[in-house]
Amino acid sequence: MSEEKFDAIIVGGGKAGLTAAYVLANAGLEVLLADRGGFCGAKNVTGGRLYAHSMEKVIPGFADEAPIERKVTHEKISLMTEKSSLDIGFSSSKLSEEPGSASYTILHSKFDQWYAEKCEEAGVMMVPGIRVDSCVVEDGKVVGIDAAGEIMYSDVVILADGVNSLLAQRLGMKQELTTHDVAVGVKEVIKLDEETINQRFGVRGNEGVAWMSAGDPTCGGLGGGFLYTNKDTVSVGIVATLADIGYADISTPDMLDRFKEHPSIKPYIEGGQPIEYSAHLVPEAGIHMVPELVRDGVLLAGDAAGFVVNLGFTVRGMDFAVESGRLAAEAVIRAKEAGDFSKEGLSSYLKALDESFIMKDLNALKGFPTLLSRREMFKDLPEMTEDIFSKLFTVTGKPSMDFVMYVINSLASHLSVAQLTSLVGDIVDAF
Ligand SMILES: Cc1cc2nc3c(=O)[nH]c(=O)nc-3n(C[C@H](O)[C@H](O)[C@H](O)COP(=O)(O)OP(=O)(O)OC[C@H]3O[C@@H](n4cnc5c(N)ncnc54)[C@H](O)[C@@H]3O)c2cc1C
Repeated sequence: MSEEKFDAIIVGGGKAGLTAAYVLANAGLEVLLADRGGFCGAKNVTGGRLYAHSMEKVIPGFADEAPIERKVTHEKISLMTEKSSLDIGFSSSKLSEEPGSASYTILHSKFDQWYAEKCEEAGVMMVPGIRVDSCVVEDGKVVGIDAAGEIMYSDVVILADGVNSLLAQRLGMKQELTTHDVAVGVKEVIKLDEETINQRFGVRGNEGVAWMSAGDPTCGGLGGGFLYTNKDTVSVGIVATLADIGYADISTPDMLDRFKEHPSIKPYIEGGQPIEYSAHLVPEAGIHMVPELVRDGVLLAGDAAGFVVNLGFTVRGMDFAVESGRLAAEAVIRAKEAGDFSKEGLSSYLKALDESFIMKDLNALKGFPTLLSRREMFKDLPEMTEDIFSKLFTVTGKPSMDFVMYVINSLASHLSVAQLTSLVGDIVDAF
């Protein structure tokens, strides 16, 4: 293997790496993809909701053949306290009316294995079970990879090795992550039969539910809980910002156990058998953590490039990973045509990113990390809604206080004028 030189080597077989490999191989390039997992989908973690638009550009109609679980037809957002939950539900056929606007629940272990098979069929040399230790650099240019002393050469290396990207850190392209850059996510897959899921969640056939919640799931700390319905399992998890982990004096796995016992969540998962448990970091800082993306002979894609948007009511990393993998591959194809794998030769990647939804969304939503780092969003807001709505819906026979006054009193007891003013400022900035 060490004698052979590839057109491209890809490190990481998640959505970003698999997409890059698939696009390159279909363009006739010699591609090797290395992943440290025993199979693609073994080591990486996702909550489980894939927005389909970017996959549609790579494999049109992929959902007809890929192992998707359900199509999301029902959205739910909850603000929770220990005893209450204010829920907003939305279900509509409009959720997937526009071409490419559908979203699906998936399980990585099935989906990524299917995608890896597609890559293999396209001619990619898939090498699971090897951890790449570093990139090989000659005269300042990346020319290959080193895996336990075995050197493999290529014109270009695409680093799609996930949120930490130790390889990009070793090249000096990416800083070590800070606790403000990432959240820790823990997730359980719970087995329930299909009919039970349909009955409990009020869905039919392949309809599915995406449910995000904030407040009590992280005990008022920064982050939230999620629940996605799969065919005959439910994915349930917590994402908690690392910098805030000590706030609630409870570990993230314990938060998940607590979340599963919440009166709003428990009835949906009761009696189910946990069959999978995983934990992983999630990039959180948006545009603020995007590293150097291109150097001579090397590009970064997916989580390695920090391409994730967390809006609280939705987490998007997989569609960013797929899109950036495709754009990285297309830049490599152009570089091969020009015979130039220098930073300059690969720079069409940066232009393509700027023109794509990736940089546009990261820029448009650059205020969100600040908004979502405010304690008021996770503690005061859920407590205030509990105050206000329990008042609104409780009739005791005692004279009612004027409701508007009650809302004003509740606001005043939770937030100072200065807090409220700066919160409104952050909300305006975020949107
Ligand atoms: C709990 C949680 C919930 C989430 N929920 C959602 C969601 O609902 N929707 C959504 O769109 N996004 C979600 N995300 C984010 C999304 O999962 C990621 O953004 C996306 O999967 C990143 O894909 P990737 O290909 O860049 O990286 P990954 O999928 O992390 O793949 C990186 C791969 O690189 C391999 N690797 C790493 N280092 C090496 C090495 N040195 N040598 C060889 N191989 C290596 C790993 O084994 C791994 O397979 C969530 C993330 C988490 C953790």
